[in-house]
Amino acid sequence: MNEKRATVTIPQQELPVSYEPEVVVIGGGATGIAAAIAAARNGADTLLVEQRGYMGGMGTAALVPAFCPYTDGEKPVIRGIGLDLMEKMKQAAGDVYMSMHKDRLDWVPIDAEVLKRIYDSEVTRSGAKVLFHTFVDQVLAEGEQIQGIVISNKSGRSVVRAKLYIDATGDADLAALAGVPFHIGGDEGELQPGTMCFLVSGLDKDRYDRFIEETGQGGQLSETVQLAQQNGDLPEGRKRISGTAWLSKSVAGFNFGHVFGVDGTKAEDLTYAAIEGRKLIETQLRFLHKYVPGFENAHLVHSGDQIGIRETRRIVGDYTLVVDDFMSMRSFEDDIARNSYFIDIHLANAQSTMAIKRLPKGRSHGVPYRCMLPQGKENLIVAGRSVSSDRPVQGSLRVMPNCFAMGQAAGTAAAMAAQAGTGFRGVRVPALQRRLTEQGAWLGDRSEAGAEGAAVGTGATAAIRFDEEC
Ligand SMILES: Cc1cc2nc3c(=O)[nH]c(=O)nc-3n(C[C@H](O)[C@H](O)[C@H](O)COP(=O)(O)OP(=O)(O)OC[C@H]3O[C@@H](n4cnc5c(N)ncnc54)[C@H](O)[C@@H]3O)c2cc1C
Repeated sequence: MNEKRATVTIPQQELPVSYEPEVVVIGGGATGIAAAIAAARNGADTLLVEQRGYMGGMGTAALVPAFCPYTDGEKPVIRGIGLDLMEKMKQAAGDVYMSMHKDRLDWVPIDAEVLKRIYDSEVTRSGAKVLFHTFVDQVLAEGEQIQGIVISNKSGRSVVRAKLYIDATGDADLAALAGVPFHIGGDEGELQPGTMCFLVSGLDKDRYDRFIEETGQGGQLSETVQLAQQNGDLPEGRKRISGTAWLSKSVAGFNFGHVFGVDGTKAEDLTYAAIEGRKLIETQLRFLHKYVPGFENAHLVHSGDQIGIRETRRIVGDYTLVVDDFMSMRSFEDDIARNSYFIDIHLANAQSTMAIKRLPKGRSHGVPYRCMLPQGKENLIVAGRSVSSDRPVQGSLRVMPNCFAMGQAAGTAAAMAAQAGTGFRGVRVPALQRRLTEQGAWLGDRSEAGAEGAAVGTGATAAIRFDEEC
């Protein structure tokens, strides 16, 4: 692309104001769904704006095939709205699905079509309005206040004027448009790779299970993948699959392989990655047919509407959660969630390695409210995978259960701010925490957890294990 592009000045435009809710949520992924439900349930007139024709973000649009663990290995850490939505999906997924996964809370396979309907019904039932097929491409900001956002859809361009704005775009689009400082990727600009996830039918799970048992290699098929790589039947890079998410005995979802060098905030990169990702699936399908018993007749049913994106912007907020907070399992006075998922950074290129660091079973760290408050803006909150953290912590916080928890906190805070007539920094945090726990969230055992400054625990061992990753 040309460095120096020609420009065109667009004449000043007068736009209609299409909506004036108290709270507007931009983005209908895990974060935005929980935020909209929480804001509406807590009494705020709420609008959710989503560029696609359904909700779910990476979990439905990119076909990410499973929810990461809700538990710390002993008890659920993510509860409240996020846990409820997952349980509702399980119940609606039918008898076969339930017979396989009823009591499971970790690595629960996603039935994307069922999940879309659950999200439709739960968000609308909460009282939040939903506007699909609508993209936000401009923020009207004056000083510390956002005055409105410009939305674009088939009806034309218009302005949504709200009291409070929740950025749940996963990419911190609103924050970036509003001039909030952010980081993207590592020191060299490196980013975690994308993955084009996919769904296959025509499988024979019993035959596959016997193969796994006989080879003793586990569901990540490490030996088989590496054999195929040596034979030139799979490209170098990720030496395993992320597990197979079985929806029935003949249908499963895959998170397999990487596309490198993709910046998810650039349309050109997303385009390249979509084409490369689909090409890679063709190779992977040939591999499954040839190497994996039970997959001889595997038929590709669907690939992601877009490549799965693990990492883009991280805003600079009032507090930046860093790896030391994670490793020392720190708690903060303003915790709004707990996280026990491991640091899971996928290689930035086919040569570098994967970084995984785990907390001990039963342990977690706090996620402070301040991580969601972008510097310089009073009526904007950013939740989900682009909150203020360093890169390793982003590699852990980014997963869907955490996004639900942060979304619930952001939505609840928005409703409280709307009622009090304040910005997000005016929310009384103890009252927010009380409301979150009353409404099902888990903020840890506060007496055991300790407060900010007092690191809890002696630091986790950075055990490296490769059982599941996402
Ligand atoms: C390949 C891959 C595998 C993963 N594996 C797992 C896993 O196994 N388990 C797990 O729990 N997590 C997994 N993750 C992480 C997880 O899926 C995401 O980090 C999480 O979904 C982020 O949620 P979110 O709501 O913050 O953002 P997203 O899911 O990205 O949702 C953002 C939403 O905002 C919309 N949007 C964005 N910009 C705009 C705009 N300007 N205007 C209007 N709408 C907009 C998008 O369409 C989207 O619906 C994986 C991620 C990837 C990429």
